[in-house]
Amino acid sequence: MTRDYPVLYRKTETSRTEPCPYCRKRHQHGVGDGHRVSHCVKLSKNDIGYILKTREEVK
Ligand SMILES: [Zn+2]
Repeated sequence: MTRDYPVLYRKTETSRTEPCPYCRKRHQHGVGDGHRVSHCVKLSKNDIGYILKTREEVK
């Protein structure tokens, strides 16, 4: 069964994400996009993680 994960964007691989769909906070992740377990302090019941995507903006 495929689940639809929310997509969480970040500007660069070292910047924080946009507000998390679960806890509304900005999370910090390591290098690499794809599905990640959420970094929420308090996990909600429907927390299935999210797809991390980096908007690679030209500097
Ligand atoms: Zn969160």
